[in-house]
Amino acid sequence: MSDATSLERAPSRAARIARALRAPFRLALDLALPPLCPACREPVGSALGLCADCWAKLSPITRPYCEKLGIPFAYDPGPGIFSMQAIADPPAYARARAAVRYDEIARTLVHALKYGDRLDLAPVMGRWIARAGAELTADADALLPVPLHWRRLWARRFNQSAALAKVVSELTGVAVAHGALRRVKATPQQVGLSKNERAENVQGAFRVPKEAKSQIAGLHLILVDDVLTSGSTVDACARALLRGGARQVDVLVFARVVDAVRAPI
Ligand SMILES: [Zn+2]
Repeated sequence: MSDATSLERAPSRAARIARALRAPFRLALDLALPPLCPACREPVGSALGLCADCWAKLSPITRPYCEKLGIPFAYDPGPGIFSMQAIADPPAYARARAAVRYDEIARTLVHALKYGDRLDLAPVMGRWIARAGAELTADADALLPVPLHWRRLWARRFNQSAALAKVVSELTGVAVAHGALRRVKATPQQVGLSKNERAENVQGAFRVPKEAKSQIAGLHLILVDDVLTSGSTVDACARALLRGGARQVDVLVFARVVDAVRAPI
């Protein structure tokens, strides 16, 4: 028996004991043990939310992409090109940018923030968003989180988009315009709906309160949200804001759904 053997065995025994303890007393121990990576359930030492391996698995969206929708192109069609989709069905917003593709890992993060009360993920996700939206925030007047209906906000206790907007605001110095947009219709969840159904679902759901119109008149605003799927929610928001007097509305999200095949024009 040598010292080396006992040294090698020590950590594995400690890990075994930790695992054995963690299972029956998970609730109590989770308060004391380092947080787990929401994607792979490994302990995370730092305040990064995901472990380093899982962060590396995210797929950042970089140019070339459609300058309007922010959807990545498979090859570079040249500068300033819009996608077929942006031309055929132009949104009310001017530009949308997303930090990463909405894949397995991104979904885990978004769900952990939204439903898992993992507000500690907001600073890192917000940093990704701020980086992806540097061109947008450079000349924007205010950020605007996509609002929840008060009933959902009450049930969930926080608005994940507002948490992200707060971080982006701190990093960029662009203020958050609170209360400039209100969700006046409690729309059902968009999950499982077609693109047309989604657009119908959110039609008339957002309104700029009368007292907020002077607050946003002539301003360049950026809507902040966690995920962009069909874009119908942010489009409805942008419509309401433009009707309310805003000069330009851009969109900034953490993750966006990207179809597997989408050729540029
Ligand atoms: Zn992980």
